[in-house]
Amino acid sequence: MTAQVFHRTTCRLCESPNVELVVKLEPIPLSENYCDDSETGKSAARYPVDLYMCADCGHVQQLDVVDSKSLWESYTYYSGEAKGMPEHFNQVAAKIIDVYQPPAGSLVIDIGSNDGSLLRPFKNAGYGVLGIDPATEIARMATESGIETIPELMSLDLAKKIRAERGPAHVICMFNAFAHADNMGEIAESIRAMLAPDGVFIFEAQYLQDIIDRVLIATIFHEHMSHHSVKALTIFLDRHGMELIDVERVPIQHGSLIGTVQIKGGKRKGNASVQQFLDLEAQRGLDKIETLRQFAEKIQKQRERTSRLVKEWKQAGASVAGYGAARSGPTLISQLGLTGAIEYIVDDHPQKVNKYSSGDGIEILPTSELCKRMPAYTVILAWVHSGKIIETNQEYLNKGGHFVVLCPETRVVDKDGSVVI
Ligand SMILES: [Zn+2]
Repeated sequence: MTAQVFHRTTCRLCESPNVELVVKLEPIPLSENYCDDSETGKSAARYPVDLYMCADCGHVQQLDVVDSKSLWESYTYYSGEAKGMPEHFNQVAAKIIDVYQPPAGSLVIDIGSNDGSLLRPFKNAGYGVLGIDPATEIARMATESGIETIPELMSLDLAKKIRAERGPAHVICMFNAFAHADNMGEIAESIRAMLAPDGVFIFEAQYLQDIIDRVLIATIFHEHMSHHSVKALTIFLDRHGMELIDVERVPIQHGSLIGTVQIKGGKRKGNASVQQFLDLEAQRGLDKIETLRQFAEKIQKQRERTSRLVKEWKQAGASVAGYGAARSGPTLISQLGLTGAIEYIVDDHPQKVNKYSSGDGIEILPTSELCKRMPAYTVILAWVHSGKIIETNQEYLNKGGHFVVLCPETRVVDKDGSVVI
């Protein structure tokens, strides 16, 4: 599959041209793509995912942008299927209703609403709900299941149309997509156009501080165009007439932020959390190029160690498999020097079994094959679920297999425990 890619020359948030390359990475294939044969998988085009930092606002971002049609139209990730997400969304919705008390029956909009998992608890609580998501098949299924979803990308034209037809929204959420859009300026203007004067905009996005602290390279793929910090977001929101009134850290995706925003000068008083985050980020040098350079060195060292070890195993005749045809798979394989090392991947997802991964052309087999084939080493590519995968595959370990966990550092797990390599 080929896609249109263009290279931005300005910061996605503040539009400054002072952007500098800080983390050079291996180009990777589009990650949610499974092919019918190995050759097609291997010939998949690769696109850059290098990270840049804006010298003016400190925003860390990818500047090589894959056109949204290629990225989203045939997207197959369903938030409702991701472990723990429906519970997380239920809690988030309950908290928003409790803390911000949107008027009964008022409109709640979710941008990048996926299968409607976040809107469902609002609907159950009597609110009007509207999803917006460009993944046409997922949007259709969400609408059929009772969560009306417009199958389009967010745009200012669409925002104005929604406002004119349905009135203002008292809650606008952007939980799956706030790091996923290139046109952030237009997104901000769209939110402001739809938001009621006393409404709130609430986003969740992976936090740059966690990405650096935990070396979360598995989360660096084309969809993740922005790696947000509170400082850069504060400057960005101010440019668009809005302000952060609350920020909290949540463990989703190994470290995310939930931020609450109102129209500047709105009726709500911001709490101390925003300044606390700004102080913490200043103390940690999160807006300094040097901090990102150190992160790049850490990745390089992990790559050297991991690829050397896997090479040694292969040379000794050991078989190496992968566990989980996850979104993070192509990234981990490419960035940690595992290209060509993994013989097959086990995964039970019905849309992936018996297909081939994009980029490496690796066959995907059902997980029941793991104990039958007994690869000596199984690299966990679905990194978020490492603990659960190890827990549920004790038989494989007891029979002498090893799991290789890649985040935050590479370690090998056998039936007796784990060793960092
Ligand atoms: Zn900037």
